[in-house]
Amino acid sequence: MKQKGNIGVTTENIFPVIKKFLYSDHEIFLRELVSNAVDATQKLKTLSSVGEFKGELGDTTIRIAIDKKAGTLTISDKGIGMTEEEIDKYINQIAFSGAEEFLEKYKNDANAIIGHFGLGFYSAFMVSKKVEIVTKSYKENAVAMHWVCDGNPEYQLEACEKNDRGTDIILHIDDENKDFLENAKIEELLKKYCKFLPVAIAFGKKKEWKEGKEVETDEDNIVNNTTPAWTKKPSDLTDEDYKNFYNELYPYSTEPLFHIHLNVDYPFNLTGILYFPKVKSNLDLQRNKIQLYCNQVFVTDSVEGIVPDFLTLLHGVIDSPDIPLNVSRSYLQSDQNVKKISSHITKKVAERLQDIFKNDRKQFEEKWDSLQLFIVYGMLTDEKFYEKAKDFVLLKNSENQYFTLEEYKKLIEANQTDKDNTLIYLYANNAEAQHTYIQAAKEKGYDVLILDGQLDVHFINQLEQKLEKTRFVRVDSDIVEKLIVKNEVEKLNLTDNERNDLSTIFSSQIPKLEKTEFIVSFENLGENARPIVITQNEFMRRMKDMSAVQGGGMMNFYGEMPDSFNLVVNATHPLIRNIINAKSENCDNLLKPFAEKIAELEKEKSDWNTAHKDVKKEDIPSVENEDLEKIESQLIEQNKEKRAVLEQFAANNDIISQLIDLALLSNNMLKGESLDKFIKRSLELIR
Ligand code: ADP
Repeated sequence: MKQKGNIGVTTENIFPVIKKFLYSDHEIFLRELVSNAVDATQKLKTLSSVGEFKGELGDTTIRIAIDKKAGTLTISDKGIGMTEEEIDKYINQIAFSGAEEFLEKYKNDANAIIGHFGLGFYSAFMVSKKVEIVTKSYKENAVAMHWVCDGNPEYQLEACEKNDRGTDIILHIDDENKDFLENAKIEELLKKYCKFLPVAIAFGKKKEWKEGKEVETDEDNIVNNTTPAWTKKPSDLTDEDYKNFYNELYPYSTEPLFHIHLNVDYPFNLTGILYFPKVKSNLDLQRNKIQLYCNQVFVTDSVEGIVPDFLTLLHGVIDSPDIPLNVSRSYLQSDQNVKKISSHITKKVAERLQDIFKNDRKQFEEKWDSLQLFIVYGMLTDEKFYEKAKDFVLLKNSENQYFTLEEYKKLIEANQTDKDNTLIYLYANNAEAQHTYIQAAKEKGYDVLILDGQLDVHFINQLEQKLEKTRFVRVDSDIVEKLIVKNEVEKLNLTDNERNDLSTIFSSQIPKLEKTEFIVSFENLGENARPIVITQNEFMRRMKDMSAVQGGGMMNFYGEMPDSFNLVVNATHPLIRNIINAKSENCDNLLKPFAEKIAELEKEKSDWNTAHKDVKKEDIPSVENEDLEKIESQLIEQNKEKRAVLEQFAANNDIISQLIDLALLSNNMLKGESLDKFIKRSLELIR
């Protein structure tokens, strides 16, 4: 009996749509067809186990074969097969109406279509000009059936000869898709989508090298592992098994740090194994390493929206039949089930870390450098994770010792609380470059943290908000005496005039650095401290650091500002004292006439101002305005000449530039021509 018919009702437009929409992702046809074959096989196994199928299961291997001459790709299974009625129901009607409904729903969202599950059998038409089904049901006395459709809605269905139970899907690959007739291409796709399917899949025969040639053996080339580690019970697996599975997922990669075996069956179904990768540097982080499966069928390796962002840094596998795959990502993110899954995974990850921390602190510390970025990222982006992680997040100090937040607080409480009762956490973000400052802080009995992680700028802000009365201060943000202000530092007895003069002297000798400015100040740091120290204001520096990470808006404004440093001159240091004395000796007499003249002009100016205090601007006679202008320009002139005297003195005193350069040098800020000058001057000085 031969049956002819039209598929569905308004199907004329389906094939072009299937081809067009799925063009970029048409390789998924193989996943769809092999999954159908797996389903058919699993169904038969189920029927057999409940006694509904009494025959021999036999070899149920699914076989994929390419016939280049005929231009066909065939997927054969030994599953339940289909009767004529079933073909009618599942292929001719249901699938088509399903496809139509689906296309109607997602016609404006090509992304939702791509990677969609359940387009199923008809995805075959994405790559074929003609598709044949040869199938024989497992049912007793079943008649084998042959279905053909050449891509227009017409199909033919007739009885045929077939010895074995099961289904062959024969794809006549169209001209644009010839690459699906290449062994290498199919091998690649099977590896991608079918690697862990639960029924053995054979693609050709195993090959071996014999007498310098690659020859085929009799053994099937099985492309999948039907029982991947995540489907097994954790109690049946050793550490070695977990490592081997990691290798199976990511061949040739570095051993992971830890694994987490997920196994949930209520209120949703989820299995999987997640791995913490070893991170060599902050830069080699890779997302999209987690693979998402649905009943062992590979779905995607981009899991954003399904697991929290920070968990996408992990590696491994998640398998859940409960994640709705046939919907768009934005829908996924608001799906209640997905939310539950996401928070469950977060909880499990936090618990596992907690566990390792409690039971094997040594190991935890050894692996901290790799774990740090991940944990800090989690704390910054996930409030619930913060709450759990705050008990095991570690701080590392300059001696490579690790502390929990609680432990560290205890350590520094006594010695690093300032006069306002705020606990000061001192830190460096570059142990090498800030060595001098770290040393200075240590000599004062302080502890210094090393916060050099990529996210530490943000983490510091978070901790300041979360921990009470706590401030983080970078060791080079001020002179050591002022990092933690316990009581007021002793005042210097310099007059304003002296301060101004000295400030002019030192400013004039600072080399010009691009986008950098210095503010000179004078402090009493004691005879043993350095003569000049360069510091950078904590607030400004942090704003700049953040703008470098975030950019945009207000942050951009900070990024554009020049770097502002403090050049702190230690007025009590003997070398500085010498300079101050030399300045008095050399300049004071020269400056005297200017000082007197300036004082006189200032007086005239203030008299003028007093005299005109209540006069409206426009009522002042122009002669009088000219008087003021004259005074002011004389003032400028006098000040200029005064400054010239000071600058002349500074230029003749090699020690001033030498001390400034030494301070710059210890901050790694002396470069190029300035460095050259410094070296020449140093050689002169020691000659
Ligand atoms: P889905 O798999 O999502 O149900 P498909 O279009 O892929 O949609 O398949 C429709 C139906 O056709 C399947 O549910 C199944 O009953 C039947 N079918 C498809 N392929 C096979 C096969 N290889 N063996 C037996 N039945 C099959």
